[in-house]
Amino acid sequence: MIDCLFCKIVEGEIPSEKVYEDEHFLAFKDINPKAPVHILIIPKEHISRVENLEENQVEMVGRLILLAKDIAHQQRIKNGFRLIFNNGPDAGQAVEHIHLHLLGGRKLTWPPG
Ligand code: AMP
Ligand code: ZN
Repeated sequence: MIDCLFCKIVEGEIPSEKVYEDEHFLAFKDINPKAPVHILIIPKEHISRVENLEENQVEMVGRLILLAKDIAHQQRIKNGFRLIFNNGPDAGQAVEHIHLHLLGGRKLTWPPG
């Protein structure tokens, strides 16, 4: 059994504020939000990093992005949003289970730090 924070959230062993769930995906509020809307969207399957994605996961990744768009709409984000995958230490990936950050609800600066 992989000792993974987000797998534990999927299993309900660690509580989260869910905003969406289906058979394959879960979306929940980030515990340390960096914007008025900050949601993490994850596949339930444990995949550690974007760099470990494989060809047969293309559809899953596409669905993840479409889901992020639907959640942005559901959250009534106006004027745009940002989607981010952090990959590896230099990008600040703290949790080794793929997660797509959805940020919105304020003007976001560019480039990020
Ligand atoms: P990253 O730095 O890209 O790996 O992002 C990990 C994110 O997970 C951070 O934004 C954290 O605030 C968030 N996080 C950590 N623990 C929890 C938790 N228990 N529930 C919700 N979000 C969490
Ligand atoms: Zn995991």
